[in-house]
Amino acid sequence: MKSPLAILQQYFGYDSFRLYQASAVENVIAKKDTFVLMPTGGGKSLCYQIPALVLEGTAIVISPLIALMKDQVDALRVNGISAAFLNSSMNPNEQNETFRQLKNGELKLLYVAPEKLSADNGHFLNLLKEIKISLFAVDEAHCVSHWGHDFRPDYLFLNGIKKGFSETPIIALTASADEITRQDIIKQLNLQNPTVLISSFDRPNIKYFVQPKQSVLTHILQYLKEHPNDSGIIYCLSRKGTEDLANNLKENGVDAEFYHAGISSIERAKVQDDFIKDKTRVMVATIAFGMGIDKSNVRFVIHADLPKNIESYYQETGRAGRDGLPSEAILFYSIADVMKLKKFAMVEGNEEQSSLMLRKVQQMTDFAEMQKCRRQYLMEYFGESHPGNCNSCDYCLSDFESWDATLDAQKLLSAIFRLKERYGKNLIIDFLRGSKGVKITEYMKGLPTYGIGANSDKTHWQNLIKQLTINGFLRDSEGEFSVLKLTESSNEVLFKKRKVNLQKVKELAKAVSVEEIE
Ligand code: ADP
Ligand code: ZN
Repeated sequence: MKSPLAILQQYFGYDSFRLYQASAVENVIAKKDTFVLMPTGGGKSLCYQIPALVLEGTAIVISPLIALMKDQVDALRVNGISAAFLNSSMNPNEQNETFRQLKNGELKLLYVAPEKLSADNGHFLNLLKEIKISLFAVDEAHCVSHWGHDFRPDYLFLNGIKKGFSETPIIALTASADEITRQDIIKQLNLQNPTVLISSFDRPNIKYFVQPKQSVLTHILQYLKEHPNDSGIIYCLSRKGTEDLANNLKENGVDAEFYHAGISSIERAKVQDDFIKDKTRVMVATIAFGMGIDKSNVRFVIHADLPKNIESYYQETGRAGRDGLPSEAILFYSIADVMKLKKFAMVEGNEEQSSLMLRKVQQMTDFAEMQKCRRQYLMEYFGESHPGNCNSCDYCLSDFESWDATLDAQKLLSAIFRLKERYGKNLIIDFLRGSKGVKITEYMKGLPTYGIGANSDKTHWQNLIKQLTINGFLRDSEGEFSVLKLTESSNEVLFKKRKVNLQKVKELAKAVSVEEIE
């Protein structure tokens, strides 16, 4: 048996495995169920392709996108690996030929669309029992979960795999899963005591910018002018939006095309191919574009409209800079988009789904509106810690100015003092702002500092609490309920006239700016 590393070098021409690839490969070869969470471009494919070549039998790869399947299979064949696919785009003759190869054990990898597994009461899975299967790989595994952002009913049939093939390892892969989705994938696929591999989601070569959604076309034209050699993707929410923007760009001499699920599959394939082969510079697309598209030199991803959730945003921006070179992600943000997305969320699906979607829109909004390191927010969203100060997001690249926060700090700290350090930030802010809510008791209303912060809004106080905490003027008790506590430094502010100087953004850095249009 050849070693995985030898196979990597011989068939794929790479020197070494990336960190988590090596573990994933090892695990699958040891016939253990494996769950791989890696960002787009992280190198998920090799996690099952290498074991497929090491183990005896045929690997079955379940993948949701027909276009992607063909590309993958072509790429494998070029490397001298016998691979094929089965999906609805093939005629009966082609399908029969593939079945013949499968039965003869001629294939190392077979890519199948999920609907193949659900068709005819699972006929296909039964058929597989007659041949030797090395492993099952479930790509884009988040599609199996209602909690994910791209649920596909056909994926539910994948729970039949473990029942029918208890000895065969399953490897599930996704670039997109928060904790609940992760647990759900493992449950839905019936993974047995899986090894969970989560690689860092950070993409240090991508810079993140959020800009107000104003004169978007003018800004994009300016950006393209300033980056004349760069190619990229612009995401819009609606099909019509992509057509309008692409046409506008074309009228202004930009080599752009649009892509959405409403155009014919032949046309789609062509448009996509032209973009991948650098024949088209700018692709204006809906979210239908991109899953699995391996174009390494995408230099920018622009969101002309707000994405529905952080997962989509991160997956889409992740299509930039797969080659590791500096790239940019620019989001044009408006409250009007938030309203629109919230409306969609309320009419789609049942109550539970709606509230989940609403929560996700809110997180997307928080990301766009907050004043802190964008990368830190993203990493924390995906459950990783990040120190902030990434020096490559609009926030970290901004000019800061210091401001005298002494008076506000005194107000806040003395409120905490008066309330005997027994409450969390929400109550403290309500108290400061003179809220009449039920949580504020009559006793509290009688205290001296009640309502002294009413002239500033909630966000101001939230930010101040954050800043004071970072700078050691406050401490958050990290128990089940967070409670704000005073520190040595806060006592100096309260009782020894210590001054508090904090930093704030003077003007947020922008990826592109245009002179005000007269
Ligand atoms: P994902 O499916 O996670 O988005 P891919 O499997 O398509 O990622 O891999 C992304 C890119 O990284 C591809 O161009 C691939 O050839 C390259 N790549 C993957 N693994 C390695 C490796 N060990 N060494 C060098 N390049 C790699
Ligand atoms: Zn940053």
